[in-house]
Amino acid sequence: MSPESILIVEDEPALLRGLKDNLTAKGFGVLTAADGEAGLQLALDRKPDLILLDIMLPKINGYEVCRLIRKEGLDTPVIMLTAKGEESDVVLGLEIGADDYITKPFSVRELLARVNALLRRRREGETRVHEFGGFRLEADSRKLLRDGKEVPLTPKEFEVLELLARNGGRALSRDDILRKVWGYNVFVTTRSVDRCINTLRAKIEKDPRDPVFIKTVREVGYRFEG
Ligand code: CA
Repeated sequence: MSPESILIVEDEPALLRGLKDNLTAKGFGVLTAADGEAGLQLALDRKPDLILLDIMLPKINGYEVCRLIRKEGLDTPVIMLTAKGEESDVVLGLEIGADDYITKPFSVRELLARVNALLRRRREGETRVHEFGGFRLEADSRKLLRDGKEVPLTPKEFEVLELLARNGGRALSRDDILRKVWGYNVFVTTRSVDRCINTLRAKIEKDPRDPVFIKTVREVGYRFEG
């Protein structure tokens, strides 16, 4: 397995170098950028496994970088690096899609704990297998099997089913599903979500009009039960 890669976007040279050295020593592949524009470009081109993102950056600030990354549909975990006194801005960072934050100055040990927690969560999410009824949904091979035989799904059907199964028991709004599966594409509406759910039900439910796995949550969206 190739090492997990971490992109550091930070304009303080000493901090950037220190982080790079420490993470490299821990076996991570490290990419660095000293401004928001370069950071955004690297994030989109190289798709790192995790991003450490400073807020106050030249060219494009950290919030904007985070927002644009999410807009492009990347769900890469993002840890915001905030300065003391910027804590009130953390809420904004989390609202636009950052996963965690750490306040400067921080210890390497503290940072590594956060990094490893997010990477572990990501790995578990990716390798998880969901079993329901006679079905087996494999996130890593992107296959749905019924009694060992593959049930052909379109990529979007797979992603919707996987998202629902991963959040089993939780009601997900149509907007949530749309944003996570289709990204921020202005040409797609929540009708696409409903259409996808209908074709999925036709493939997995015994009676699509009385579904047991993908339940409709009135005026909200859908909930997976399995
Ligand atoms: Ca800065």
